[in-house]
Amino acid sequence: FSSKKKNKSILSGKVVKKSKKKRKIKENKQKIKKVVHRTVENNDIVIRNKKFSKINKPVFKKEKSSEEILTKRKKQNKNKNDNKRQISEQLKENSKQHKHKNRQKKKNANESLVQQNKHTNANDVSLNKETNKLDYKQKKRKKLQEKLHQTLDTHSSSFSVQKQTTKSLRAKMMEKLQAARFRYINEQIYSNDSKEAQKLFSKDPESFHAYHEGYRRQVNKWPLNPVDIITESVQKMPKSHIIADFGCGDAKLAKSVEHTVHSFDLISTNELVTACDMAHVPLQNNSVDVVVFCLSLMGTNLHDYFLEANRVLKQGGILKIAEVESRFDDVHQFIEGLRKFHFKNIWKDLSHNLFYFLDFKKEANIKKKKKLPTISLHPCLYKKR
Ligand code: SAH
Repeated sequence: FSSKKKNKSILSGKVVKKSKKKRKIKENKQKIKKVVHRTVENNDIVIRNKKFSKINKPVFKKEKSSEEILTKRKKQNKNKNDNKRQISEQLKENSKQHKHKNRQKKKNANESLVQQNKHTNANDVSLNKETNKLDYKQKKRKKLQEKLHQTLDTHSSSFSVQKQTTKSLRAKMMEKLQAARFRYINEQIYSNDSKEAQKLFSKDPESFHAYHEGYRRQVNKWPLNPVDIITESVQKMPKSHIIADFGCGDAKLAKSVEHTVHSFDLISTNELVTACDMAHVPLQNNSVDVVVFCLSLMGTNLHDYFLEANRVLKQGGILKIAEVESRFDDVHQFIEGLRKFHFKNIWKDLSHNLFYFLDFKKEANIKKKKKLPTISLHPCLYKKR
């Protein structure tokens, strides 16, 4: 609605229309004003409302929150109190548990202490006992010493005590001497011809007894006595069998069987034994059923013994040998050697660790003595202990 446009319409001559238009414009203007006013008012209201709301809202909120806060605070306080209570309860429980644990620990410690005390008490008791024993022994020794001194002063019973101590020493020394003597004689017999051994014993018969004493002591150390094995086998033979025991010692075999036994040894220790060198025994040719060599193959002239055994044995007669295992280099070679003496091996027991047991059968008389081989075994020497 500018002024230029108004002028143009007047100039065109349309006066009625112009007035109407003016009125309308005025009316429109008024309407617009009204509208604007309303809108302004509305806006203002809106603005005012907005402002009001803006201003009042926090006030309203404040009023609301105070209650809530109060309730909240109450709740919070309650919660706090509850928490405090819970914490205090937990603390109480913890302290209770702690106390309980401490009590248990104390109890356990006390129990262990009690046990330890018991143990120590027991140890103390045993120690006391031992100390008492020691005290008692010491007292006894003192008493004995006092007695000894008293008796030495009076020259009475102390003599017997002295005698006892010297006796035991003497016995020990004698034992050692006897053992040494046994070892010496044993070596002499093994390393010499039987004639030499016979000479040795005939000159000094006491040495023979010394040797036998030592031999008996040695037998007691063995797990078995070979003469017992031979005795068992002889006992199974017919009672009519005549036995010849070459190197019989104490004639244990003759004493243990019902058979007729001719017992030979270098020296006679009892009425059953005939003293002789077994290379030459006082028996007829082909007169005995069994010849026994039980640990008696001593000396360097073993072939003489086998010759003699062949001579006195009947045809088919039995030669029984028991020897220390370590004496054999090769037992089969030994068996082969005896074959030349017309002895056939019919049984052997090599199972024992210490001894071999061999049985032979005489198959024929020996006619040509010169062709016979020399049979040798290692000497059985005893070690010094
Ligand atoms: N046979 C007996 C004894 C074994 S000791 C037993 O088993 O109990 C060995 C014995 O053989 C000794 O008594 C020894 O004097 C004897 N001896 C060794 N060579 C001998 C020989 N040439 N003549 C006779 N006896 C002999």
